This record gives sequence, C-alpha cells and structure tokens, in this order.
Amino acid sequence: MARNPLSRLVGKYALESTVAETADVTPTMRRIRLVAEAPIPFPYAPGQHVRIQINDPLSVYGLLRPVETLRTYTIWDFDRDARTLELRAHLYDGDGIGLRWARGVRPGDPVTFWWPQGDFFVRDAAFHVFVGDETASAAFGPMLRSLDASARVCGVLESETGELDPPLPGPHRLERVHREGAPAASSALLLDAVARLDLPDGEGAAYVAGEARTCQMVRDHLVRDRGWPRTSIKVKPFWTPGKRGLH
Ligand SMILES: Cc1cc2nc3c(=O)[nH]c(=O)nc-3n(C[C@H](O)[C@H](O)[C@H](O)COP(=O)(O)OP(=O)(O)OC[C@H]3O[C@@H](n4cnc5c(N)ncnc54)[C@H](O)[C@@H]3O)c2cc1C
Repeated sequence: MARNPLSRLVGKYALESTVAETADVTPTMRRIRLVAEAPIPFPYAPGQHVRIQINDPLSVYGLLRPVETLRTYTIWDFDRDARTLELRAHLYDGDGIGLRWARGVRPGDPVTFWWPQGDFFVRDAAFHVFVGDETASAAFGPMLRSLDASARVCGVLESETGELDPPLPGPHRLERVHREGAPAASSALLLDAVARLDLPDGEGAAYVAGEARTCQMVRDHLVRDRGWPRTSIKVKPFWTPGKRGLH
C-alpha cells in the first residue's frame, strides 16, 4: 500500500522504496541502496538522477518551505530486475536537509523517490573529458562504466585530500587533485588542472559537474581558451554556496 498520498496521485513519476543498505565509501561519501516496492518502469541512462523526497511537499512544512522537500542524487548503480538503485552522497561540512538525510538514513527506512529525465549522460565523441568534485563522482562512475574500454577518456576529479578520493570504476582513469583546505567553490585548483590537460585531437565531449561557479569557469576555459563549441560541453551544477536544493 502506498505510504505517501502524493506518490499515489502521481505514481507515474514517483516510487516508494526501502533502504536496504548503507555504508561509508570514504569518511565523506556514503552509499545508500534502495529497493523499490514495485517494478521500476522508467527509462534509465547512466548519469541520470532521482529526486529524494525528504519532506512531504503537501505537508504544512512542505507548503511553507517547498525548497526544503526534495534533493537530487545521481543513480550510481541500477538493477532493474532487483528493483535496486544505489546513491552516493557526499557528506560535506554543513546542515542541509540532503546532508542530514544522507547521514541519518538507516536500513528499513522508507524513501519516496521521483524519477526525472536528466540529460547528463555520455554521447558519441572522439574522446571524453570529465571534470568535477566529489559530488560529480557519483555521476562520473556510472558514465565511465557505460563507455567501452577502448574509449579515449581523460579528466580531473577534485576532492579534499587523497584519503577522501571517491573511488571510480576502471579501466579509465581521471587525474586527482586535492584542495587541502582550499574552497571547492570557484576552484582555481580544478581549473588549473583542466588547463594542463593534454587533450587528444578530434571532437571531444566534456561533462562538467559539481559546484556551479567552478563548472562555469571550466566551461569558459574550454570555450574561450580551447575553442570548444558550447554544445560539446554538458554542464550540470550540483550545488553552490548560498543556494539550496539545485536540481
Ligand atoms: C543533477 C544533480 C545530481 C546530484 N547528484 C548528487 C549525488 O549523486 N551525490 C551528492 O552528494 N550530491 C548530489 N547532488 C547535490 C545534492 O542534490 C544536494 O545538493 C546535496 O545533497 C546537498 O543537499 P543539502 O540539502 O544538504 O544542501 P543544499 O540545501 O542543497 O545546499 C545548502 C548549502 O550547503 C552547501 N553545500 C551543499 N552541497 C555541498 C557540497 N557538496 N559541498 C560543500 N558545500 C555544500 C552550500 O553552501 C549550499 O548553499 C546533485 C545535484 C544535482 C542538481
């Protein structure tokens, strides 16, 4: 039986699930595996995301604070037959509702999730460039897995320290850079590392995700300094200081 009146209303887009497992991937990255109560009828491409309903949008709280109801998480792993999906949440230093949910959620907890049609996935290209921070790794993992072993891949993943590097699946490798206390917003460290990349010839595709201002800087660099067409760069801001619940 549906637990949530809203999901009954819009059952075409929302599903109810139960947390099957949680575990630390690194001290600042938690994986959360959900099992849906019903078969998952939605199309899926690696890199797409779901929206987790943290507070009921139809409750008094949700009606007064609609921004504090849903948070977006990329599907790290999806098994349609088993009805499971795994998310990877970055545990940053803060108090947002997404962070509190990701920290506190336990096996057995009910979770309603929405399945939007994200367009952050790989496309045909001579080579592929991935650039982002810890949050972006949750999208880069499934996107990298979806590429052939023969695909040409490069890019940079930033995190706080080497110990906190989020793991990514092989065989493709991204460079790692570490902030060591520098801010993740408007990250000069990440931009410098991208500027140093020796990119192959041909028409590449770039996938840039994570902090919004850093994403903008990386796109500007590719367009202005490297002469890339904007259409070859897929940018997906995941978060930014002063804004809540980007989607
Ligand atoms: C398409 C998409 C896919 C996403 N996929 C993932 C994912 O797979 N894994 C994941 O962890 N996040 C992902 N995010 C980000 C996620 O939706 C939330 O923003 C994040 O969980 C924080 O939610 P919050 O409620 O704690 O903070 P919010 O209310 O969203 O933000 C409040 C404030 O907290 C700070 N903040 C938020 N996030 C961070 C951060 N990572 N580092 C430092 N400061 C931060 C900022 O100052 C921000 O203004 C994705 C976002 C989008 C748009």
